[in-house]
Amino acid sequence: MIKAEHLSKNFGKLHALNDVSLEVKKGEVVCLIGPSGSGKSTFLRCIHGLEVPDQGTRYLDGERMDPSDPKKYRELRSRMGFVFQHFNLFPNKTVLDNCVLAQVSVLKRSEDEAKKIALDYLTKVGLLDKKDSYPNALSGGQKQRVAIARALCMEPEIMLFDEPTSALDPEMIKEVLEVMKELANQGMTMIVVTHEMGFARKVGSRVVFLEAGKVIEESDAETFFTNPKSERAKDFLSKVF
Ligand code: ADP
Ligand code: MG
Repeated sequence: MIKAEHLSKNFGKLHALNDVSLEVKKGEVVCLIGPSGSGKSTFLRCIHGLEVPDQGTRYLDGERMDPSDPKKYRELRSRMGFVFQHFNLFPNKTVLDNCVLAQVSVLKRSEDEAKKIALDYLTKVGLLDKKDSYPNALSGGQKQRVAIARALCMEPEIMLFDEPTSALDPEMIKEVLEVMKELANQGMTMIVVTHEMGFARKVGSRVVFLEAGKVIEESDAETFFTNPKSERAKDFLSKVF
């Protein structure tokens, strides 16, 4: 579904990503783990096309992402959903409108069809009763569930999550992780940057551990947590548990 080959990204002299490759198959849930500043967000943003890497090639379902072909690039990007740490909802739009807008503008769906789909996904994340609320009337957990529903309305082939629970109070983390777990169980392909080790272990099929812009270790989730190979991963795990 995703193939990223030899991606590098520099910010000035800083090597934020240094020759990172990853393949994600349909239905896999890959968790990206690593210390702050290790390049997790940069990597995810490069995969989604929010950032263009300085080097390397990206494919979605066999199709190359080439920024010099803007129309095709946009089309490929619209087939991936992205969920941000800070939700990025439109504050002056209702929950329903947040879910309808891109369906109409990007996918050219009719208003009626878009609403129907939005109501369906809002029901799935348990927020149908909030459809007419504005984001600032919602809790953090509710905002993030709206953001997930909004992404799902675009019927993406893969969902990318960048620390979706890091800005939430502890009691709200669970409701968001539950929605993500449900999605994974339904077979959604996902890449998740997270510090939720319980989620990574239970729901993740694979863990990729990054440090200083490089992949240090890549294993199936159970092996990573019970028997990490690298000293750096061992050290990291001893600090987070
Ligand atoms: P992580 O998500 O693992 O915390 P990031 O991918 O956000 O790491 O950042 C990797 C490195 O790149 C960090 O040193 C960060 O400060 C730097 N960085 C990220 N985005 C930018 C940017 N837009 N401009 C300059 N430096 C950046
Ligand atoms: Mg980050």
